[in-house]
Amino acid sequence: MKKQYDYIVVGAGSGGVRFARLMASHGKKVCIVENNRIGGTCVIRGCVPKKLYVYASNFNDHLTDAKIFGWSVAKSKHKWKSLVEKKNREIARLNKIYIKNLNKAGVDIIHDHGSFVSSNSLFLKKKRKIIYSKKIIIATGSIPNYPNIPGSEYGISSDIFFELKKIPKKISIVGSGYIALEFAFLLKNLNYDVDLIFRKKTILNEFDKDIGSRVLNYAIKKGIKVFSETSLKKIKKTAKKTIILTNKKIIKTDLLIYAIGRTPNVQSLNLKNTKVILDKNYAIKVNKNSRSKDKNIYAIGDVTNRKNLTPVAIREAIILYNFLSGQKTNLKLDYNKVASAIFTQPEVGSIGYGENDLKKLNIKYKVLITEFNPLKYSFYKNKKSKVFIKIMYEPSSEKVLGIIYIGESAAEIIQSLAIIFQKNLYLDDLKQTIPVHPTSSEELVTII
Ligand SMILES: Cc1cc2nc3c(=O)[nH]c(=O)nc-3n(C[C@H](O)[C@H](O)[C@H](O)COP(=O)(O)OP(=O)(O)OC[C@H]3O[C@@H](n4cnc5c(N)ncnc54)[C@H](O)[C@@H]3O)c2cc1C
Repeated sequence: MKKQYDYIVVGAGSGGVRFARLMASHGKKVCIVENNRIGGTCVIRGCVPKKLYVYASNFNDHLTDAKIFGWSVAKSKHKWKSLVEKKNREIARLNKIYIKNLNKAGVDIIHDHGSFVSSNSLFLKKKRKIIYSKKIIIATGSIPNYPNIPGSEYGISSDIFFELKKIPKKISIVGSGYIALEFAFLLKNLNYDVDLIFRKKTILNEFDKDIGSRVLNYAIKKGIKVFSETSLKKIKKTAKKTIILTNKKIIKTDLLIYAIGRTPNVQSLNLKNTKVILDKNYAIKVNKNSRSKDKNIYAIGDVTNRKNLTPVAIREAIILYNFLSGQKTNLKLDYNKVASAIFTQPEVGSIGYGENDLKKLNIKYKVLITEFNPLKYSFYKNKKSKVFIKIMYEPSSEKVLGIIYIGESAAEIIQSLAIIFQKNLYLDDLKQTIPVHPTSSEELVTII
């Protein structure tokens, strides 16, 4: 008799692992199919390794600050190899924990590539076998884009970058999104020569324009070489160099990294054997319960392109589990109230709407802005980065619609603000709060 699962989950990343663990712990027969390492993008080649690299890179700034505060600091040198080895050890540890937790919950782990035979069955490529299930959850994430130009194979994606045990001195990054900027800052801070090449005049275009303009200025101030309004035409390779031909200049580099967006990972799923429908960006169309147009198939995480962040994929998994197992909870996911961070130097934290969103949605708003030199940088002759705070609110009710914080520890600060933002935050709440002094973030409550 053929074995039938209650649920097959395709993809063991942030969303898939959480769903599989919850459903198996609830007593259902669950298997998870993964064609790479368990843990997915965030753990293996995204948030976690990136943040470890960012921590490493931040010491450059700390060393400069130390000198300013009177420390004599010996000439410092960073060893990439040592960082990569430690990062790999940590990722291997996390990978093992993910496997252990899946096993503990009773999930069958299948290391294979899955593609659809029907709405209830999946073909396993290596095992050359079909597995069956009442329902299937697609949690296959997204894959990095490569430019459609001759010689694009001479550049690498962020996925490959995390595998590099050695990197050259000169690195060119193509892109203007948060991943491109995070890579540019972290590599520059680790003392590499960094180019940032992008098509438009501005960067971080999906965020409020006050974020992009400031981060771009700080990038230039740091010494990142910026090539704006520059589109790639062709890439060539010589024995020693990678040559980037653009609409403007010819740029010679030693390592070319593309960070030009990601596409939902559906290409090899054989979705034509199901009733699943994709949107124009190849994202799986789902309803609020993450159900696709095929009643047996659900999709969560980046593959649905709703908000491509790990905590969002995890929350979508929990909400889907609650829905399918009939749990009554008040847990919800308001995509407009998701906080996020950009780990540049200084960091950026934001939550709610930016001015660009409010204009698009035709929502009336007013803005409070402050920008100042933080106490920590008082001794700098040429002032380092400033702290920037922007609050957008509804004029009649004074409800806060969005907050932006640029400055040291912005990610941690926006995380704390996110708690009260969920409950609806009003200017009066900020006004009533006694500030913690002396801090930079106290300006959040003294701004009014
Ligand atoms: C460089 C980088 C930095 C990031 N930084 C952050 C950050 O700081 N904070 C944040 O919140 N988010 C960050 N993200 C985004 C975050 O990683 C994703 O939003 C998150 O991993 C999405 O989870 P997921 O479950 O949808 O997919 P994934 O975690 O991508 O998991 C999908 C899994 O499915 C597997 N798979 C795909 N197809 C098949 C198949 N046919 N058969 C079997 N297995 C398959 C893949 O191998 C993969 O393991 C970052 C992403 C990148 C690339």
